[in-house]
Amino acid sequence: MRVLKFGGTSVADAKHFLYVADIIEQKKRQEQVAVVLSAPAKITNHLVNMVEYTLNGINIESNINDAERIFIELLNGIAHVQPGFNDVALRNIVQKEFFKLKQLLYGIALLQYCPDRVHATIICLGEKLAIAFMEELLIARGCNVTVVNPVDKLLAQGGYLESTVNIPESTWRIRRSSIPNDHIILMAGFTAGNEKSELVVLGRNGSDYSAAVLAACLRANYCEIWTDVDGVYTCDPRKVPEAQLLKSISYQEAMELSYFGAKVLHPRTISPIAQFKIPCLIKNTNNPNGPGTLISHIEVDEANPVKGITHLNNMAMINVSGPGMQGMLGMAARIFASISRAGISVVLITQSSSEYSISFCISQSDVLNACKVLEEEFHLELKNGLLEPIDVIKDLAIISVIGDGMRTQRGLSAKLFSALASAKINIIAIAQGSSERSISVVVEDHMTTMGIRVAHNMLFNINQIIEVFIIGIGGVGQALIDQIHRQQKWLKNQNIEICICGLANSRVSLTNANGINLDNWRTELIQGKEKFHLESLVNLVQKNHLLNPVIVDCTNSLSIAKQYADFLANGFHIVTSNKKANTASMTYYQKIRMIAKKSRKKFLYDTNVGAGLPVIENLQNLLNAGDELIQFSGILSGSLSFIFGKLDEGMSLSEATIAARIHGYTEPDPRDDLSGKDVARKLLILAREVGYELELQDIHIESILPEDLNVTEKKVEDFLLKQLPTIDHIFDTKIRNAHKEGKVLRYIGEIRNNGCCKVTIKSLDKTHPLFSVKDGENALAFYTRYYQPIPLVLRGYGAGHNVTAAGIFADILRTVTWKTRDY
Ligand code: ADP
Ligand code: ASP
Ligand code: MG
Repeated sequence: MRVLKFGGTSVADAKHFLYVADIIEQKKRQEQVAVVLSAPAKITNHLVNMVEYTLNGINIESNINDAERIFIELLNGIAHVQPGFNDVALRNIVQKEFFKLKQLLYGIALLQYCPDRVHATIICLGEKLAIAFMEELLIARGCNVTVVNPVDKLLAQGGYLESTVNIPESTWRIRRSSIPNDHIILMAGFTAGNEKSELVVLGRNGSDYSAAVLAACLRANYCEIWTDVDGVYTCDPRKVPEAQLLKSISYQEAMELSYFGAKVLHPRTISPIAQFKIPCLIKNTNNPNGPGTLISHIEVDEANPVKGITHLNNMAMINVSGPGMQGMLGMAARIFASISRAGISVVLITQSSSEYSISFCISQSDVLNACKVLEEEFHLELKNGLLEPIDVIKDLAIISVIGDGMRTQRGLSAKLFSALASAKINIIAIAQGSSERSISVVVEDHMTTMGIRVAHNMLFNINQIIEVFIIGIGGVGQALIDQIHRQQKWLKNQNIEICICGLANSRVSLTNANGINLDNWRTELIQGKEKFHLESLVNLVQKNHLLNPVIVDCTNSLSIAKQYADFLANGFHIVTSNKKANTASMTYYQKIRMIAKKSRKKFLYDTNVGAGLPVIENLQNLLNAGDELIQFSGILSGSLSFIFGKLDEGMSLSEATIAARIHGYTEPDPRDDLSGKDVARKLLILAREVGYELELQDIHIESILPEDLNVTEKKVEDFLLKQLPTIDHIFDTKIRNAHKEGKVLRYIGEIRNNGCCKVTIKSLDKTHPLFSVKDGENALAFYTRYYQPIPLVLRGYGAGHNVTAAGIFADILRTVTWKTRDY
């Protein structure tokens, strides 16, 4: 015997209804089957709303019409394809049932009250009709069918709305009805009968429980729960797309997962099947060939100690505290006895070690009732000040991590907490199940999706995720996009998922939380309508719960640099080649670092000095290892390295500058290079890195352009062709003098051991490490405590789109720390 249960979405419309009939027919060829059906999707919600709205005087016409339409469309759809399907008789049944329903609702409206018994009868109408439809459909297909009425056969105890089935008695009743072996058994889910043979229901989502109970009563070999997902996942797949399908879990794990919110199973489903060791398979009606998830008696899976992460929304935490609680015997018992008498279920409990307070979580809808019963129970203590007024925190959620193997694993809670901390999620309370099979944390409700995503990423996903937003789509920005595009596949194999979620230039921006199509970004960007705005970026990140957003600044804009503190505070890492932030005031320099530390975000700027050369990282490594800078000298500008190299070869300054511009080495206006300001910025960044608190104006700059040169030409071309040649002779003389001594001229940035920083034109002899540096190369010579008298020299192209982009790319990859599933 095999019990098959089909949920609401599996019988939502004619197409699915017919699929279900196919599955039943196919399964019955192998062994006898018993089928439990839910109400078609949405029906129970409509019925529940009809009662509630009627009590509140709200019009329910649309609910009635919608519900009736769902049934009629179902009948039409089945009748259309199934010959011999007696839809006429069923239409009459639907009509009669809706007539009865309207009468009951009319009565409720008059009474302004709905007894639980009537409530139960109303809300299980969907299951009743679904069974009637399926009976007729299977008969039309020539099957033998026996319908089991759950009101007669399943004896239940408890209230009308949340009953529990007595399995021994129900087993006996079902056995007594001796159903022929070749009959398909059909039974409505969600429904049972009490001792007075009145209809009761088993709680919302209770059809899973009906199936488990029927499987237990029939001592079935298998229980199959057919739903709209492929099985039980590591997290709700609707909230966390990366969730992974679980092949098998133990009864205890399934129980804990469903108790803490995995809606795919009703929490009470497991107990009856576990009692008789009936394996339970979760399957997808839309993908019947998928393997599904097997729930059975299995040994602890040491290799996969964590099985899932669940969440429960709309929770409230009640806190009972006061000086009277210390050492007072029986406080907890009184609290929970009174809560239980009120029929309120407590999901989680924590007690402070001082016994000064007890906190527990309940569903938000039970808060009023809970406060009332507690105030009654502790009337005297509250009056005498032994207890503080009952404290309620609303709008909370519980996130739980679940798995049998957790009890023997260290560090799992630390991982969960640090994941939540990284997303700035405040933990309000913590509880560990006594079985050590679960750890739960209470957080603010609106942080739920973010919380489960980061926790899932930390505990299950060995893939690291990077969501990049690039500002500035000039030469470097474009080279970076190309490099990322090229590397995406390779990085995926290294477990790094990188996607570009935003592009912005000074005019427009383009965003896509799932990643912009990099085959077509130019066309899409042109069509972009919005300008770049931090606010809309923050909205996008929050709405889509992005895990590791990185803003990449490829501009040289001061106004973007001024927003870094806000970027960091809003949860973005920053990677930048823009020097403006690091050369702004010392106060801003320190503020960025402070905010980065506080918000646990990275601020990376290795391309600020030497483009792709790993300058900053090496320097930081040396300093961290206890080294000290004694002196520094370097050629920090690719354009000036090129120009001074050409002077050696006999070109004039103006010719060399024009050539550098043609090669793309210079800034758009070469006066920015010749002024020495850019080199000064790089020098300042290095000096600050080693600890000198300097401002840009503290750097002494010897400009290449003589001080008395009044730059009169506005246009770059005019300056280069008319004005610059007027100073060529000065350099000719300097070069000649240097050559006479076997020296060359180089434009050098220097940091002395007293912190004095200078940018000067120097003549160097052959022994100097910077003597041969030209052709656009950069070279940086660090004289340190460890590196002397021969300095540490970093040398290579220090400008150019590709090398700079590669340096930025390396920084982007530094925003993730390599991680394995090592728990
Ligand atoms: P049915 O109507 O078939 O009973 P439900 O809607 O009650 O289906 O349950 C299936 C839904 O449970 C899925 O669509 C999914 O969104 C949700 N769900 C929550 N947590 C999990 C989980 N860990 N694994 C699978 N599904 C889950
Ligand atoms: N139809 C009922 C509900 O929606 C029972 C179920 O589907 O499991 O709660
Ligand atoms: Mg369900």
